[in-house]
Amino acid sequence: MKVHGRCHCGELRYEADVDPAQVSICHCRDCQILTGTAYRVSVPAKAADFHILNGAPKIYVKTAESGTPRAQAFCATCGTPIYASDVEHPAFYNLRIGALAERAELKPARQIWCRSALAWVQGLSGMEMHEKS
Ligand SMILES: [Zn+2]
Ligand SMILES: [Zn+2]
Repeated sequence: MKVHGRCHCGELRYEADVDPAQVSICHCRDCQILTGTAYRVSVPAKAADFHILNGAPKIYVKTAESGTPRAQAFCATCGTPIYASDVEHPAFYNLRIGALAERAELKPARQIWCRSALAWVQGLSGMEMHEKS
C-alpha cells in the first residue's frame, strides 16, 4: 500500500510502500517520552520502498534497552516524528503513522512492550466523547 507523509510544517514530505498488516503499537517508555503521549503507532517500510521527496530530517540517536543505537528522525522545525531506523545500515524505516495521509487505514494488529503500557489506554471506548474540543 502506498502511503504519503508530511510533517506538520510541510518541510518534510516522503512516500513509501508498506504492508498495512504490519502496523503495531509500542507502549515502551522511550516511545511515550519521544511522542509526548501514551504510545506510538508505526509501520515498517523497506529501505528501497521509502523516499524522502522534500527536506532532510534531523536525527537523534537513542540507545535501546538492548544496547542497540536507533536513529529517531524528526522535523527540525516542527518536531514531527517521522521514523526510526538502524543507524548505520537501515534495512527498514519504521514510519510513524500520525504524519501519513493514509493513517485511518493503518489499523494496528499488535501491541508490544505492554509491560510499560498505561493501564487506561485499554479503556478508551467507554470514555465521554465530543466531536470537537
Ligand atoms: Zn516540519
Ligand atoms: Zn517503543
